[in-house]
Amino acid sequence: MNIFIMGAPGSGKGTFSAQIKEEFNLNHISTGDIFRANIAGGTELGLAAKAYSEKGLLVPDEITNKMVKEYLNNLEDKKNGYLLDGYPRTLDQAKAFEEMTKGTDLEVDKIVLMDVSFDELTRRITGRRTCKKCGEIYNIYSKPTKVEGICDNCGSPLTQRKDDNEESLKVRLNEYANNTEPVIAYYEPKGIVSKIDASKSMEEIWPVLKETLKK
Ligand code: AMP
Repeated sequence: MNIFIMGAPGSGKGTFSAQIKEEFNLNHISTGDIFRANIAGGTELGLAAKAYSEKGLLVPDEITNKMVKEYLNNLEDKKNGYLLDGYPRTLDQAKAFEEMTKGTDLEVDKIVLMDVSFDELTRRITGRRTCKKCGEIYNIYSKPTKVEGICDNCGSPLTQRKDDNEESLKVRLNEYANNTEPVIAYYEPKGIVSKIDASKSMEEIWPVLKETLKK
């Protein structure tokens, strides 16, 4: 099963990706995570992406498409397919991805759209805290840790993403409305998009999401 998980920043893509990956034994590919790792590591890709990413802007398609292509080419363990999180985010990316995968077993067959109101997104984004060590995602409002600022899983200090502030969020939501909503409109007529009401609690969303993917 090859899945795209789509939705605005803060819609729960990262949180649910971890659960989907476990449940269905998929390769999880998060373009945002790959960019962040490269920025932290000071690689050539990281240097190219940094200025855009930290402002909340999309990294240019040429750089992003090349990165995804390399990632797919190096996928050794195909498992049961992939879960692509945060890509494609522009029509150009969607078309480039189609080109890359046409006629292969990597064509996308399901898209889940995590649907949340813009007000709720702001609360989620500004409250989000992440553990860099084990990857667990928390929220100071809706999923606080037992000890403030410390990961429940591994005891490491939590960090806040550089782009998780109100100023960057405005830019990111703009990018989403202008570039990513047209991608959803492009896939909708193909009958593979399932919209999930992701403003509910995690406990309510997960069974719906799981059933949708099993269909
Ligand atoms: P995310 O973690 O998915 O919110 O992504 C964080 C940042 O990485 C975005 O704001 C962009 O700067 C960059 N990024 C991630 N995925 C893409 C993509 N598909 N196209 C362009 N930029 C991306």
